[in-house]
Amino acid sequence: MYDFLIVGAGFSGCVLAERIASRLNKRVLLIDSRNHIGGNAFDYYNEHGILVHAYGPHIFHTNSKKVFDYLSRFTEWRHYEHRVLANVDGCNVPIPINLDTLNKLYGMRMSSREAEAFLESVRVPVETVSNSEEAVISKVGRELYETFFKHYTKKQWDLWPSELDPGVCGRIPVRTNRDGRYFMDRYQAMPKNGYTEMFKKMVLHPNIHLMLQADFQSVKQLVPHQFLIYTGRIDAYFGYKFGKLPYRSLRFVFDTIDREYVQETGTVNYPNTFDFTRITEFKHLTGQVHRKTTIVYEYPSSDGSPYYPIPSKDSAQLYAKYKAEAEKLSGVWFTGRLGSYRYYNMDQVVGQALTLFETTIPHATVKEGIGAYD
Ligand code: FAD
Ligand code: UDP
Repeated sequence: MYDFLIVGAGFSGCVLAERIASRLNKRVLLIDSRNHIGGNAFDYYNEHGILVHAYGPHIFHTNSKKVFDYLSRFTEWRHYEHRVLANVDGCNVPIPINLDTLNKLYGMRMSSREAEAFLESVRVPVETVSNSEEAVISKVGRELYETFFKHYTKKQWDLWPSELDPGVCGRIPVRTNRDGRYFMDRYQAMPKNGYTEMFKKMVLHPNIHLMLQADFQSVKQLVPHQFLIYTGRIDAYFGYKFGKLPYRSLRFVFDTIDREYVQETGTVNYPNTFDFTRITEFKHLTGQVHRKTTIVYEYPSSDGSPYYPIPSKDSAQLYAKYKAEAEKLSGVWFTGRLGSYRYYNMDQVVGQALTLFETTIPHATVKEGIGAYD
């Protein structure tokens, strides 16, 4: 008999397993249908000995001291600030758009103040921003929108920016200084020995029993448990009874080249050319020294694993139906990117899991008479 069955050994499942096992002293069965822990943040050394991310590049960044301190119990860090270039007409320019992007693109030598005035002159005033197209044109106007966002977004989501919530493209800032970092967060770092090593430390506790290649459907009847934490797809849990929540998938194509480096920065985006969206070279992210290098191409696709919940009005309505069903259950919690159908970053799912642990779970265990929170 387990106190908790946790479905999914990604960030969400590992954080909750660790908290419940170590702080509540409860017995946890942590399962995953894959043959590894770490969820989409899983990394491994490939056949050339290069550390790669199996499900696309994962760069850790957060403004939350709480999240950073929590994860720091399980890993040391390597400071890393991600930089991205966009390949436009064969020329690489910084993305997010900044002063250097504008000057390179237009062959000018504007100052920050002139760039501000330029953007002011091209931006399209929008009273209430209601989609991703408006989020971008209200900041940089139509031409820059079309160069950097319109076609990349269509490739990535198979939707136009006008069909997506403002936050999708709106999460990419616009700058008039020369800051070329992709993220502005206070903490920007990669786990020194990789994500998988960090996850191994999180789940190394006598109260945690790990079962891989185990799907919820086949385990749920066999393993008695009092509580359930579900970090898989919420629509799958309910047998898709209201219809499938839409997801965007990716196909990852890896290539190892007999050269130390092949591109000048971690990621190069291809907004208007090719079927892939971006190429990432892992050694920039990990700092690994190796005479060869591995890159990954990301090809968006409608079939495959559910990587990206689609932030749109229609999908939010459908999700609300599943959420209402979930709220009728007792002793079952849905969390994480799939469980809450949110386009969350890693730090956000860690924050969400910690909050769930602090606010809800101990009280439930006390209510059910299986123990108190120390
Ligand atoms: P997941 O990592 O998806 O883990 C859920 C686990 O549940 C999976 O391992 C799955 O196998 C398992 N599961 C599902 N259903 C079942 C079932 N029925 N039975 C058993 N097991 C089941 N975030 C960042 O902060 N920075 C980045 O740079 C970044 N890059 C990304 C790039 C890509 C291509 C993608 C797809 C995501 C990226 N993310 C990034 C987001 C990040 O991957 C997620 O925020 C995070 O991994 C979510 O963790 P999770 O535990 O909620 O879900
Ligand atoms: N985006 C874009 N052009 C870019 C970079 C991003 O249009 O050069 C849009 C696109 O819709 C993308 C979203 O902004 O899906 C968020 O980009 P981010 O790099 O954060 O995506 P993720 O890393 O989550 O795939």
